[in-house]
Amino acid sequence: MTGHAIVIGGGIGGLAAAVALRRTGWQVNVLERVSAFAEVGAGLSQSPNAMRALAALGLGEQARQVSMPTWATHTMRLPSGRHLMRAPAQGDPPLRAFRRSALHRLLRQALPEDVVRTGIEVTGLTQDAEKVTITHTADRQEADLVIGADGIHSVTRRLLWPHAPGPRFLGYTAWLGLADTPIAVSGSMTMGRGRYFLIHPVAPGQVYWALGTAADQPGVRFDDELEQVRRRIDGWHDPIATLLKATPPEQVRHIDIHDLPDLPSFTSGRVALLGDAAHAMSPDRGQGAGQSIEDAVVLAAALATHGTVPEALTAYDAQRRPRTQTTARNARQAGSQVIHAGPVAHILTALALRLTPSALWERLAPRALGPLWDWVPPTLPDGAAPK
Ligand SMILES: Cc1cc2nc3c(=O)[nH]c(=O)nc-3n(C[C@H](O)[C@H](O)[C@H](O)COP(=O)(O)OP(=O)(O)OC[C@H]3O[C@@H](n4cnc5c(N)ncnc54)[C@H](O)[C@@H]3O)c2cc1C
Repeated sequence: MTGHAIVIGGGIGGLAAAVALRRTGWQVNVLERVSAFAEVGAGLSQSPNAMRALAALGLGEQARQVSMPTWATHTMRLPSGRHLMRAPAQGDPPLRAFRRSALHRLLRQALPEDVVRTGIEVTGLTQDAEKVTITHTADRQEADLVIGADGIHSVTRRLLWPHAPGPRFLGYTAWLGLADTPIAVSGSMTMGRGRYFLIHPVAPGQVYWALGTAADQPGVRFDDELEQVRRRIDGWHDPIATLLKATPPEQVRHIDIHDLPDLPSFTSGRVALLGDAAHAMSPDRGQGAGQSIEDAVVLAAALATHGTVPEALTAYDAQRRPRTQTTARNARQAGSQVIHAGPVAHILTALALRLTPSALWERLAPRALGPLWDWVPPTLPDGAAPK
């Protein structure tokens, strides 16, 4: 089945949905509130499941070209620099790290220019059995299908599920930065008590870092955010101070970490939620964007194999809700174990990591992450994308 779809939101999830639907013959418009996409915003990692989802969109090779391999899941250190776990000397790491803007641009460039309209904010939505009508700052538009990919504060979600709980603050705040530096890093995670520092190489000469730390309340901001980062990890091992020195202040973002309590459904009639609008999660499994790309592929495959939009959306909901909500739960627990660990728990975790032989770790890690990383995308019927 094909038709006309409107995607609300031009983030990674919305753009992935547009690419996936066009590959299966849908005509698509993306409506994005901001008038221009910003280049700031640090980086993110994508695990094998997400890389397979990108490949299903026909972007596997380009995605590899604009990203770097990173060993952050296999290299753990204490603030002193002592290794709790070392990456194997050989082999390919499972993760790829991207500048966020590079992944966003890759998806944008997979769409004809007139697909994405910026500076358009969606404000209303109604539907009947035949169509969905949306109201936005420029006009009204009708479509056979609407995808709410409008992020954690989704207006689509609020309009269709007015009683659904909103985002929940996880007692945790994060600073993200992009350092311009020629120093070579292979990716690592440093675990202090109640805070961590993550490093990923994202491009030749560019390193993404993130500091996560406990916070009593959201919304606290500082005149000099970089200085706040320095203060919290003063004396931590090399090359952390060097990376902070090589970070232009305008490349630092400060984000309070929220997730979304489980929704009872991701779909209603001819409207589907996708990405953070449906299942915003804490970053501790590195999965939010990856899950939104998976959503996009599964949604397009469901539309290609079912006779009506509501039937396809029911199938999409049945496939995506259990997986994404389990992932969100695991991410929240993983984050809490680091960010909210007391002194004893912190020491015990560090000891356990230090005493686990790397060979055993190599066997245990795939077992723990296997169900997440081993996901295989459905095959999309090949590209009858309209011009
Ligand atoms: C600190 C941190 C680190 C992370 N690290 C990773 C990682 O390593 N790997 C990973 O996979 N994920 C990671 N994530 C998660 C990832 O960033 C998100 O899950 C992902 O960006 C969500 O994409 P989205 O398109 O669903 O939503 P968004 O990126 O929020 O996009 C929503 C878009 O909708 C637009 N919009 C909103 N309302 C309207 C409206 N009414 N009308 C029109 N447009 C509208 C917005 O302007 C925005 O462009 C991380 C998140 C955080 C906070």
